[in-house]
Amino acid sequence: MGNTWRGLHLFQLCLILHTGAPGFSHSYNNRYDGDKVIRIVPKNDKETHELKNIYHQLQVDLWQPSSIGNIWKDTLTDVHTSNISSEVLLSYLRQANMDYKILVNNLQKVIEKQDTSRVKRRRRSLPHYHYEEYNSLEEIEKWMHHMNKTHSNLVNLFSIGTSYEGRPLYVLKLGTKPSSFKKKSSKREIWMDCGIHAREWIGPAFCQWFVKEAVTTYKTDPVMRKILDLLYVYVMPVLNPDGYRYSWTHDRFWRKTRSKMRFNCYGVDANRNWKIHFCEEGASYNPCDSTYCGPYAESEPEVKAVAQFIYKRRKFIKIYITFHAYAQMLLYPYSYQYDAIPNYKCVESAAYKAVQAINSAYGMRYRHGPASYTLYLSSGSSIDWAYNIGIPYAFAFELRDTGYYGFLLPEGLIRPTCIETMLAVKNITMHLLRKCR
Ligand SMILES: [Zn+2]
Repeated sequence: MGNTWRGLHLFQLCLILHTGAPGFSHSYNNRYDGDKVIRIVPKNDKETHELKNIYHQLQVDLWQPSSIGNIWKDTLTDVHTSNISSEVLLSYLRQANMDYKILVNNLQKVIEKQDTSRVKRRRRSLPHYHYEEYNSLEEIEKWMHHMNKTHSNLVNLFSIGTSYEGRPLYVLKLGTKPSSFKKKSSKREIWMDCGIHAREWIGPAFCQWFVKEAVTTYKTDPVMRKILDLLYVYVMPVLNPDGYRYSWTHDRFWRKTRSKMRFNCYGVDANRNWKIHFCEEGASYNPCDSTYCGPYAESEPEVKAVAQFIYKRRKFIKIYITFHAYAQMLLYPYSYQYDAIPNYKCVESAAYKAVQAINSAYGMRYRHGPASYTLYLSSGSSIDWAYNIGIPYAFAFELRDTGYYGFLLPEGLIRPTCIETMLAVKNITMHLLRKCR
């Protein structure tokens, strides 16, 4: 390929990046060139200990689990390492005779491949809304205003506060107004949030999908009709807008918020920042860690705004659902301890049926159970907080996949992921309407 041609080609690509879609510059200045994702399962306590040590020294980016404290023997760890660190880690693993698998050999290449295919597709399909693509924060905000304008009978958009960097914290309220004779009894409510962790892009994509399904199937699908007639559903597509935007513009694997902390480190893990057993097991006091709990509970304006909103409406909100990735799990409280919740039977049967519903679509297997047993111990999480203030059903989805693509779930998998997740969410909602207490 001649240099001039290549230059021209690049120039055209840049033009598309800058004119076609906002926030599209996430090849991230080649920052992931040579980076690897490596999966290691320590077989015994000695290996576990050594692995923790070397992760600590190399300051790796843990994809699974999210903190070094949650590494145990026989649990898999997916770790993202820089070009240099991966050399050190791999030679150590070979010397120590530990099993490993390289999941991604060059992360930059994977990101660029996904970017390029998205740009091509967009050129073909503008100006429609892109439910089978990842959308930038600006695109999602534009879409929210559009939904509000075009579906005012079912959708009501409002902001519950502002993020650290001053962005509005938008929430969509879905549902029909109760007919006048029913007005005395207020409708029960459901809360759903996505994008609490910035790099888990499938979350916001699902929240958008849910809203799309609500407005397009209200008239034809009796289940959706029932949900929107009998309940209000609050959908917050991007709980952590600063972090989400940053994951598009600077660091694809950013997890936290963007508030400035000590030691020149940024961000708090917004799922360790809730006022429930704050900063105990599975959370870090170090501002530079990816599971940093923050200086105090609700220090993050995003968490505080959501907590205040839900707390005020705790008499009405019966279901809290938060969407994460990746692991393919449906989790419920407790996260911070190994005890069973008081209404375990009802919650467990709702989760079991929801997971079956997921399986019925494409045969995907989801594990389900208390977050502590099923995933790992974590404190200050949103489901524990929601449950603690009296919301009987609190769930956290860990959407697809189980590590093959990890956070880089291809856009081709948005559709099946959302279709199966819709079935689960509807199932949980109908479970509430059938009154299991
Ligand atoms: Zn998450």
